[in-house]
Amino acid sequence: MLGAGAPEAALLGLLGLLVGSFLNVVIHRLPKMMELHWAAECADIHTDQHAGDTPAKQAVETFNLMVPRSRCPHCGHQIRWFENIPVFSYLALRGKCSQCSAPISLRYPAVELTCAALFAWCGWRSGVGWEALAWCGFSASVLALACIDWDTTLLPDDITLPLLWAGLCAAGLGATDATLTNALWGAVGGYLSLWLVYWGFKLTTGKEGMGYGDFKLFAAFGAWFGWQALVPIILMASVIGAVIGIGIKLRGELREGGYVPFGPFLALAGLTAMIFGPAAILAAVGL
Ligand SMILES: [Zn+2]
Repeated sequence: MLGAGAPEAALLGLLGLLVGSFLNVVIHRLPKMMELHWAAECADIHTDQHAGDTPAKQAVETFNLMVPRSRCPHCGHQIRWFENIPVFSYLALRGKCSQCSAPISLRYPAVELTCAALFAWCGWRSGVGWEALAWCGFSASVLALACIDWDTTLLPDDITLPLLWAGLCAAGLGATDATLTNALWGAVGGYLSLWLVYWGFKLTTGKEGMGYGDFKLFAAFGAWFGWQALVPIILMASVIGAVIGIGIKLRGELREGGYVPFGPFLALAGLTAMIFGPAAILAAVGL
């Protein structure tokens, strides 16, 4: 199913802009929702179960992906619908809040444009159908995970686990190139290999080199691409991660705890595998 064309690319690209706009909300709010949820669980343990709604519980109910409406983080100005059109609003507002003129992060249009480009590529490759939609879902999930991990060093289960299951289903339905057997062993191998590296590293150095979210994301890639893609993906992620990690250290921009999240580099390798194929990654390093 190679080579659809420009109309399909344009249609899915437009959808990508809208999904990208939603991803900005997910990237911003999902980590906060997880924090509120943990706080509510802790409060639950410490208070009487029959005491009714605790403030922590109420906070969980009044903060999710839908409510409250988006506001300027500087002045609290509620963002109106015409100020929330992907990319165009950013350009029309010249990157500033209409009330207080505080700069709007370039991250917002960047996520929208990246999502649009990935969706357009899916449409261009396979037309508008289940296969393209499956890979659009993959792209959006991986893009969100990369940004959330970069911001918070968390890879939420709410995204990694459905991504893994979706990869197995897509393989079973023939929406990916991996057979169901290769996808299954890809998921198992992806999780186990990083789990072993994690424990090997922890037992020899006493430090944690990565988190469980990384195992789950790598397992998801195994499900989407088959076990054959695991080596190229981890190779690319490790090389780019090492180069950027050293760069961050040299520039003294290391965050508290000296931790560079691995997820964004895994994500980059996963998206490269989607676009060029896992074999091209190996060819690029001469293997
Ligand atoms: Zn403002």
